[in-house]
Amino acid sequence: MESHAGPWKHQCWEELQEAATDLGDWTSRGGFPPEVQTEDRMGMLWNRAVARAVCELAINICWQVFQSPDGIPHGLPFSLSCVDCDVDSPPNYEAARIAGWTGIEFRPDMQAAIFRGYCPKHIPEPPWVT
Ligand SMILES: [Zn+2]
Repeated sequence: MESHAGPWKHQCWEELQEAATDLGDWTSRGGFPPEVQTEDRMGMLWNRAVARAVCELAINICWQVFQSPDGIPHGLPFSLSCVDCDVDSPPNYEAARIAGWTGIEFRPDMQAAIFRGYCPKHIPEPPWVT
C-alpha cells in the first residue's frame, strides 16, 4: 500500500484530492481498504471506516483550501504558531492579520498548531536590507 501521507505533509492539495477521491471510490465499490495501523491490526471493517473518514476529511480540507484566496481553510479551529517564538496564538485568522502577523500558511502536518507564520516581532527583513 502506497502511503498517502506525502501530499498531506507537503501540502500538495491537487494530488491529495485525487488520491482521497480515488481511495474513497475504491472502498465504496467494495475494494479492500488499506491497512490503517501497522501494529494492533483492527480488521477490514475498521480499516474501511477509517479510510472513508480520512478521505472525507482530506477532500473537505482540499475544497476549503481551493475556495480560499489565501489558501487558508477557514472552517477549522484556529491555532497559529510563530516560526521564531512561542507567543500565544491569536483567536482567529482575521485577528492575526490585524495584529500584524505575516506569512501565515496552513501546515496540517505540524503537531502543536495547524497554521504557521511570523508574529509582529519576528517579521523577516527583506534580503536587500542589511
Ligand atoms: Zn515570534
